[in-house]
Amino acid sequence: MRLDILNKVCEIIIENRDNLTELDRVIGDGDHGVNLSRGAEKVKEEIPKMEGLKPFEVLNKCAMLLMSNVGGASGALYATALMKGAAALKGKDEVLPEDVVNTWNDMILGIESRGKSTKGEKTMLDTLIPAYEAFKSEIESGKDLKVAFEVAEKSAKAGMESTKDMLATKGRATYLGERSIGHIDAGATSSYLIIKTIAESL
Ligand code: ADP
Ligand code: MG
Repeated sequence: MRLDILNKVCEIIIENRDNLTELDRVIGDGDHGVNLSRGAEKVKEEIPKMEGLKPFEVLNKCAMLLMSNVGGASGALYATALMKGAAALKGKDEVLPEDVVNTWNDMILGIESRGKSTKGEKTMLDTLIPAYEAFKSEIESGKDLKVAFEVAEKSAKAGMESTKDMLATKGRATYLGERSIGHIDAGATSSYLIIKTIAESL
Protein backbone atom coordinates (compact mmCIF):
# COMPACT_ATOMS: atom_id res chain seq x y z
CA MET A 1 0.00 0.00 0.00
CA ARG A 2 1.40 3.38 -1.03
CA LEU A 3 0.97 5.22 2.25
CA ASP A 4 3.25 7.93 0.82
CA ILE A 5 0.47 8.79 -1.66
CA LEU A 6 -2.12 8.90 1.12
CA ASN A 7 0.20 11.21 3.05
CA LYS A 8 0.59 13.49 0.03
CA VAL A 9 -3.19 13.64 -0.50
CA CYS A 10 -3.61 14.71 3.14
CA GLU A 11 -0.94 17.39 2.73
CA ILE A 12 -2.57 18.81 -0.41
CA ILE A 13 -5.96 19.02 1.31
CA ILE A 14 -4.38 20.76 4.31
CA GLU A 15 -2.49 23.17 2.00
CA ASN A 16 -5.72 23.99 0.16
CA ARG A 17 -7.82 24.56 3.25
CA ASP A 18 -8.37 28.26 2.66
CA ASN A 19 -8.85 27.86 -1.07
CA LEU A 20 -11.56 25.19 -0.61
CA THR A 21 -13.21 27.15 2.15
CA GLU A 22 -13.32 30.26 -0.02
CA LEU A 23 -15.01 28.34 -2.87
CA ASP A 24 -17.60 27.00 -0.40
CA ARG A 25 -18.10 30.47 1.08
CA VAL A 26 -19.33 31.80 -2.28
CA ILE A 27 -22.11 29.26 -2.87
CA GLY A 28 -22.22 27.27 0.38
CA ASP A 29 -21.43 27.93 4.03
CA GLY A 30 -17.64 28.30 3.87
CA ASP A 31 -16.56 25.21 5.75
CA HIS A 32 -15.45 22.70 3.08
CA GLY A 33 -11.71 23.33 3.51
CA VAL A 34 -12.00 23.44 7.29
CA ASN A 35 -14.02 20.21 7.31
CA LEU A 36 -11.74 18.26 5.00
CA SER A 37 -8.46 19.50 6.41
CA ARG A 38 -9.57 18.47 9.90
CA GLY A 39 -10.03 14.93 8.55
CA ALA A 40 -6.77 15.09 6.61
CA GLU A 41 -4.84 16.09 9.77
CA LYS A 42 -6.27 13.08 11.63
CA VAL A 43 -5.51 10.66 8.78
CA LYS A 44 -1.97 12.04 8.47
CA GLU A 45 -1.42 11.52 12.19
CA GLU A 46 -2.54 7.90 11.95
CA ILE A 47 -0.50 6.95 8.85
CA PRO A 48 2.49 5.61 10.84
CA LYS A 49 0.09 3.13 12.49
CA MET A 50 -1.17 1.93 9.10
CA GLU A 51 2.15 0.33 8.14
CA GLY A 52 1.54 -3.33 7.23
CA LEU A 53 -2.23 -3.05 6.90
CA LYS A 54 -3.96 -4.39 3.79
CA PRO A 55 -5.31 -1.78 1.35
CA PHE A 56 -8.94 -2.39 2.39
CA GLU A 57 -8.00 -1.98 6.05
CA VAL A 58 -6.37 1.35 5.27
CA LEU A 59 -9.48 2.56 3.41
CA ASN A 60 -11.72 1.45 6.28
CA LYS A 61 -9.56 3.23 8.81
CA CYS A 62 -9.66 6.43 6.74
CA ALA A 63 -13.46 6.12 6.44
CA MET A 64 -13.80 5.88 10.24
CA LEU A 65 -11.47 8.84 10.76
CA LEU A 66 -13.45 10.99 8.31
CA MET A 67 -16.74 9.88 9.82
CA SER A 68 -15.74 11.00 13.29
CA ASN A 69 -13.78 14.12 12.38
CA VAL A 70 -15.29 15.71 9.28
CA GLY A 71 -18.58 17.53 9.52
CA GLY A 72 -20.82 18.44 6.63
CA ALA A 73 -22.11 16.61 3.63
CA SER A 74 -18.64 16.01 2.24
CA GLY A 75 -17.45 14.11 5.33
CA ALA A 76 -20.29 11.61 5.07
CA LEU A 77 -19.91 11.33 1.28
CA TYR A 78 -16.14 10.82 1.23
CA ALA A 79 -16.42 8.38 4.16
CA THR A 80 -19.09 6.41 2.29
CA ALA A 81 -16.88 6.31 -0.80
CA LEU A 82 -13.97 4.96 1.27
CA MET A 83 -16.17 2.31 2.90
CA LYS A 84 -17.45 1.15 -0.48
CA GLY A 85 -13.88 1.14 -1.77
CA ALA A 86 -12.79 -0.99 1.19
CA ALA A 87 -15.61 -3.44 0.52
CA ALA A 88 -14.53 -3.74 -3.13
CA LEU A 89 -10.95 -4.59 -2.07
CA LYS A 90 -11.81 -6.79 0.90
CA GLY A 91 -9.23 -9.53 1.51
CA LYS A 92 -6.91 -8.52 -1.33
CA ASP A 93 -3.21 -8.14 -0.56
CA GLU A 94 -2.41 -6.57 -3.88
CA VAL A 95 -4.37 -4.08 -5.97
CA LEU A 96 -4.28 -4.54 -9.74
CA PRO A 97 -5.30 -1.81 -12.21
CA GLU A 98 -8.66 -3.55 -12.86
CA ASP A 99 -9.27 -3.60 -9.09
CA VAL A 100 -8.82 0.17 -9.09
CA VAL A 101 -11.47 0.44 -11.85
CA ASN A 102 -13.98 -1.62 -9.82
CA THR A 103 -13.15 0.14 -6.58
CA TRP A 104 -13.51 3.60 -8.10
CA ASN A 105 -16.85 2.59 -9.63
CA ASP A 106 -18.18 1.36 -6.27
CA MET A 107 -17.02 4.56 -4.59
CA ILE A 108 -19.01 6.63 -7.08
CA LEU A 109 -22.09 4.42 -6.66
CA GLY A 110 -21.74 4.87 -2.88
CA ILE A 111 -21.69 8.68 -3.19
CA GLU A 112 -24.63 8.65 -5.61
CA SER A 113 -26.70 6.50 -3.33
CA ARG A 114 -25.81 8.34 -0.11
CA GLY A 115 -26.17 11.77 -1.76
CA LYS A 116 -29.15 10.87 -3.97
CA SER A 117 -27.18 12.62 -6.65
CA THR A 118 -25.56 12.10 -10.02
CA LYS A 119 -23.46 13.88 -12.67
CA GLY A 120 -24.64 17.35 -13.72
CA GLU A 121 -25.76 18.59 -10.28
CA LYS A 122 -22.69 20.73 -9.51
CA THR A 123 -21.00 18.43 -7.01
CA MET A 124 -17.88 16.32 -6.52
CA LEU A 125 -19.47 13.76 -8.85
CA ASP A 126 -18.88 16.10 -11.80
CA THR A 127 -15.17 15.59 -11.23
CA LEU A 128 -15.23 11.96 -10.13
CA ILE A 129 -17.44 10.47 -12.86
CA PRO A 130 -15.67 11.83 -15.98
CA ALA A 131 -12.31 11.05 -14.39
CA TYR A 132 -13.41 7.50 -13.65
CA GLU A 133 -14.74 7.03 -17.20
CA ALA A 134 -11.45 8.22 -18.71
CA PHE A 135 -9.47 6.05 -16.30
CA LYS A 136 -11.54 2.95 -17.07
CA SER A 137 -11.16 3.38 -20.80
CA GLU A 138 -7.36 3.81 -20.51
CA ILE A 139 -7.01 0.68 -18.35
CA GLU A 140 -9.25 -1.29 -20.71
CA SER A 141 -7.05 -0.29 -23.63
CA GLY A 142 -4.00 -1.65 -21.78
CA LYS A 143 -2.43 1.54 -20.40
CA ASP A 144 -0.65 1.39 -17.06
CA LEU A 145 -1.84 2.97 -13.84
CA LYS A 146 0.30 6.08 -14.13
CA VAL A 147 -0.80 6.88 -17.71
CA ALA A 148 -4.45 6.13 -16.87
CA PHE A 149 -4.33 8.47 -13.87
CA GLU A 150 -2.71 11.21 -15.95
CA VAL A 151 -5.55 10.99 -18.48
CA ALA A 152 -8.08 10.85 -15.61
CA GLU A 153 -6.53 14.01 -14.16
CA LYS A 154 -7.30 15.92 -17.37
CA SER A 155 -10.92 14.75 -17.35
CA ALA A 156 -11.17 15.55 -13.65
CA LYS A 157 -9.98 19.10 -14.34
CA ALA A 158 -12.47 19.57 -17.18
CA GLY A 159 -15.20 18.10 -14.96
CA MET A 160 -14.36 20.43 -12.10
CA GLU A 161 -14.39 23.43 -14.44
CA SER A 162 -17.71 22.31 -15.94
CA THR A 163 -19.39 22.88 -12.54
CA LYS A 164 -18.93 26.64 -13.05
CA ASP A 165 -21.81 26.91 -15.53
CA MET A 166 -24.05 24.42 -13.73
CA LEU A 167 -27.12 25.10 -11.66
CA ALA A 168 -26.80 23.38 -8.29
CA THR A 169 -29.53 20.85 -7.61
CA LYS A 170 -27.86 19.11 -4.65
CA GLY A 171 -26.21 20.40 -1.50
CA ARG A 172 -26.33 23.86 0.08
CA ALA A 173 -25.66 25.67 -3.21
CA THR A 174 -29.27 24.85 -4.22
CA TYR A 175 -30.42 27.55 -1.76
CA LEU A 176 -28.91 30.10 -4.15
CA GLY A 177 -30.87 28.85 -7.16
CA GLU A 178 -29.72 30.59 -10.35
CA ARG A 179 -27.09 32.50 -8.37
CA SER A 180 -25.12 29.27 -7.99
CA ILE A 181 -24.25 29.58 -11.69
CA GLY A 182 -20.84 31.14 -12.39
CA HIS A 183 -18.90 29.55 -9.53
CA ILE A 184 -16.88 26.33 -9.38
CA ASP A 185 -18.08 23.82 -6.78
CA ALA A 186 -15.88 23.27 -3.71
CA GLY A 187 -16.35 19.50 -3.57
CA ALA A 188 -15.59 19.17 -7.29
CA THR A 189 -12.34 21.02 -6.52
CA SER A 190 -11.34 18.81 -3.57
CA SER A 191 -11.98 15.71 -5.67
CA TYR A 192 -9.83 17.17 -8.45
CA LEU A 193 -6.98 17.89 -6.02
CA ILE A 194 -7.10 14.29 -4.77
CA ILE A 195 -6.96 12.81 -8.30
CA LYS A 196 -4.23 15.24 -9.38
CA THR A 197 -2.12 14.34 -6.36
CA ILE A 198 -2.48 10.60 -7.01
CA ALA A 199 -1.58 11.09 -10.70
CA GLU A 200 1.51 13.10 -9.79
CA SER A 201 2.65 10.68 -7.05
CA LEU A 202 2.44 7.42 -8.99
P1 ADP B 1 -21.79 21.11 3.71
O1 ADP B 1 -22.42 21.32 2.38
O2 ADP B 1 -22.63 20.26 4.61
O3 ADP B 1 -21.34 22.39 4.33
P2 ADP B 1 -19.08 20.67 2.76
O4 ADP B 1 -19.02 22.14 2.62
O5 ADP B 1 -17.95 20.04 3.49
O6 ADP B 1 -20.45 20.23 3.45
O7 ADP B 1 -19.14 19.98 1.33
C1 ADP B 1 -19.86 20.58 0.28
C2 ADP B 1 -19.61 19.79 -0.98
O8 ADP B 1 -20.18 18.49 -0.89
C3 ADP B 1 -20.25 20.42 -2.20
O9 ADP B 1 -19.38 21.37 -2.77
C4 ADP B 1 -20.55 19.24 -3.11
O10 ADP B 1 -19.49 18.99 -4.01
C5 ADP B 1 -20.66 18.08 -2.16
N1 ADP B 1 -22.06 17.64 -2.01
C6 ADP B 1 -23.00 18.19 -1.23
N2 ADP B 1 -24.16 17.48 -1.32
C7 ADP B 1 -23.92 16.48 -2.20
C8 ADP B 1 -24.69 15.40 -2.73
N3 ADP B 1 -25.96 15.20 -2.37
N4 ADP B 1 -24.09 14.55 -3.60
C9 ADP B 1 -22.80 14.72 -3.96
N5 ADP B 1 -22.03 15.72 -3.48
C10 ADP B 1 -22.57 16.58 -2.64
MG1 MG C 1 -19.99 23.66 3.43
